[in-house]
Amino acid sequence: MASDPSQTQLDSPEARRYNQIRRWLGVADFIVGLVFLVVLLATRWSDWLRDLAYRCGFQNYSLSLFVYLLFLLGISKSLGIGLDYYGFRLERRFKLSNQKFGSWAWDEAKGFLVGLFLTSIVVELLYFTIRQWPQHWWILAWALCTGLFTLLAQLAPVVLFPIFYKFEPLENEDLRRRLMILGEHAGTRVRGVYRWKLSEKSKKANAALTGLGRTRRIILADTLLDNYTPEEIEAVLAHELGHHVHRHILKSIAVQAGITFVGFWAANWTLHYAVDQHWFLQLSDFANLPLLALVSVVLSFLLMPALNAYSRYNERQADRYAFESIVSIEPFISSMNKLAEQNLAERTPAAWVEWLFHSHPSISKRLAAAQEWGRTQGAPQG
Ligand SMILES: [Zn+2]
Repeated sequence: MASDPSQTQLDSPEARRYNQIRRWLGVADFIVGLVFLVVLLATRWSDWLRDLAYRCGFQNYSLSLFVYLLFLLGISKSLGIGLDYYGFRLERRFKLSNQKFGSWAWDEAKGFLVGLFLTSIVVELLYFTIRQWPQHWWILAWALCTGLFTLLAQLAPVVLFPIFYKFEPLENEDLRRRLMILGEHAGTRVRGVYRWKLSEKSKKANAALTGLGRTRRIILADTLLDNYTPEEIEAVLAHELGHHVHRHILKSIAVQAGITFVGFWAANWTLHYAVDQHWFLQLSDFANLPLLALVSVVLSFLLMPALNAYSRYNERQADRYAFESIVSIEPFISSMNKLAEQNLAERTPAAWVEWLFHSHPSISKRLAAAQEWGRTQGAPQG
């Protein structure tokens, strides 16, 4: 496909290098997790950990399950902490963050505790259903987990995100007015726009639509609010409003629910097979948790290209909505260019990289779509 060379901006070697390292970090992290699960099962260390957990948990099933999970997550975190630290150093090396070590370590600790809390709820529910309904546990567990994820999507902006970042209602009257007009144009109303204090931890800029129902809101990073023109911020807002109008959060939850259904079916099949093969004494033997995790990891990996393609489709839809809503396409284009620069994004990643890893279309494609829109729609009206 030919493109106008004057429109194509090549990626700097710096941007290439940064994104390459980030990808390798992601792959390494995935492999470490996978190998850990396989080793736990193959060496029967999982059984040994379960016995230890029973001793620490006073032979109480639920308590021992929690202790076992604590062991698992603790070891997993210790194995991955080196990579996490490398990721932290990477952001600083490429001048994308000025976060101090202490602040990073505190975030890691909080992240671990939040992860432990949420995972233990899911895992306790899982084994509760397995013990109560060994034949049909997976259908009930799926329903419970779907309900839980929906609740979490609703609570995240008010409970989860504030653990890591500060938010405050956007005070800028001009921007609020612009959003009102955009919302009226869409025949909808967003309940709030919030200033997201990202600058304490990163120099990158970002924006998102989060929450469900009463907690649905647009969040705009201060790194964006302080450096972009009102017209550029409006273009970003219009994109986020596009996600809102097209109900992308609800649709994503529905897609996730469909996948989880297949995942639980596969998990049930695998567990029954493992018990039939006498790898485990019974279904409720929680030493088989790494096997459940393995099913989920493998399934997520296989579905990654499809889920990313779906996300890119949603992003294109939100972009198109933005084109239709804003007066001029120029601020959209300049905001994209600024974002690419500020976030050290690859404008033109290799096709396979975009296909496999990217939840957003490449900047070059988004710019091309905007320019195309400008050419066909932007002609003087009168
Ligand atoms: Zn988006």
